[in-house]
Amino acid sequence: MINKILIANRGEIAVRIIRACREMGIDTVAVYSEIDKDALHVQLADESICIGPAMAKDSYLKMDRILSAALITGADAIHPGFGFMAENPKFADLCHKCNLIFIGPSADIISKMGDKSEARKTMIKAGIPVVPGTESPVTTAVEGQKVANKLGYPVMIKASAGGGGKGMRLVNNSDEFLTSFENARQEAKNAFGDDRLYIEKYIPNARHIEFQILRDHYGNIVHLGERDCSIQRRHQKLIEEAPAYGISEDLRREMGDMAIKAAQTINYTNAGTVEFILDENYNYYFIEMNTRLQVEHGITEMVTGIDIVKEQIKIADSKKLDIKQEDVMIKGHAIECRINAEKPRDNFLPSPGLVTNLHLPGGCGVRIDTAIYHNYLIPPTYDSLIAKLMVHDDNREMAIRKLIGVLGEFVIEGVDTNADFLFSLVNHYKYKNGLIDTGFVENLLSEIRMKTVS
Ligand code: ADP
Repeated sequence: MINKILIANRGEIAVRIIRACREMGIDTVAVYSEIDKDALHVQLADESICIGPAMAKDSYLKMDRILSAALITGADAIHPGFGFMAENPKFADLCHKCNLIFIGPSADIISKMGDKSEARKTMIKAGIPVVPGTESPVTTAVEGQKVANKLGYPVMIKASAGGGGKGMRLVNNSDEFLTSFENARQEAKNAFGDDRLYIEKYIPNARHIEFQILRDHYGNIVHLGERDCSIQRRHQKLIEEAPAYGISEDLRREMGDMAIKAAQTINYTNAGTVEFILDENYNYYFIEMNTRLQVEHGITEMVTGIDIVKEQIKIADSKKLDIKQEDVMIKGHAIECRINAEKPRDNFLPSPGLVTNLHLPGGCGVRIDTAIYHNYLIPPTYDSLIAKLMVHDDNREMAIRKLIGVLGEFVIEGVDTNADFLFSLVNHYKYKNGLIDTGFVENLLSEIRMKTVS
């Protein structure tokens, strides 16, 4: 029985998990680095323990310290949130060995899906469409080039251990291949300590559509519908919405069934996300499975009324899933945009610092997940996501209108953010008309650059 949870994370996601625990009557333990001593998650948790200096490698990534903190405080379980320890099979395994429940799937599943090339192989075997490409990592650049020549350009080089768009390169022709391969290899080695690469055909004008899955330890499974996460910059999501615009009920059902099949094939447990690329002709291809809570889970919660974090905790606590697929109703439309402390005018460089003034909008159907407050010092040490603005309304048009209002009302001083940039994205006629794909942001940026030059 889970009575106390240690949250192995920081920022808005730690706060979001603490709130779910509070509502479930579960005690919470926050861990924090020295620079985070005044952070909101530390203030809101029932107990807190400092686990080291600011750099993540000395604190939030220190498995022994996190596990010790859990054991000292008598926690029953650890929620990893996303990032940091969330997809580290060794950590999940160590939790198990310390008699702590890891709120997520087993170490074995994390490692199976964490190897993206291996995940592709598993899905091909299960009859799930994957993007055409290599079945195993390629061993040399020359071998990769041969494969790419055969597949036809453009292609994507991707890191087997990939994540966060690292070790990924779009290659337009054979001449570029060898250099891109070496660059991707170096980047993957630096980011993951693993330089294995595989190759996929590049799908032009694609959309990123993902399905939220919940599966318990008894084989009960549901999907909570899809999210469209096509609005990205450098392969990183900026705006997400649920449900996806312009997807027929038949396609939704078929893709949902495939996502369920993918999760069942690997005996998945807890919350997970099956990601697909959708091409212009509505063909879909598996790209990866994320074995954790997603940043954008809140919009699914808004359209389904299901609290995914609470479900994660119940599943980890060996409870049976009490939602059936026919109970999952998608109501209205929700959109999230990610506010980052960064300077869009200066190539989106991070902009940490003191928040000297803050006004967070509100209203019916508005949800803001954040851990910043007036006079909070945003540290330079971690990622630049500072708030998720989410809106929910009866339909897409109304949700967009609400989001425009919310973005217009949002005030932050002391640091730069991408709020104005997001405002221009959601005001764009193409966005409003659902004419979106993963190239939308880059195309708009080139438009803006051209205007500035001319
Ligand atoms: P990561 O795990 O690093 O985030 P993903 O495999 O999830 O990488 O891909 C991130 C994004 O890159 C996708 O959402 C999509 O925009 C783009 N992408 C990935 N693979 C392809 C592909 N084969 N064709 C076109 N775009 C792709």
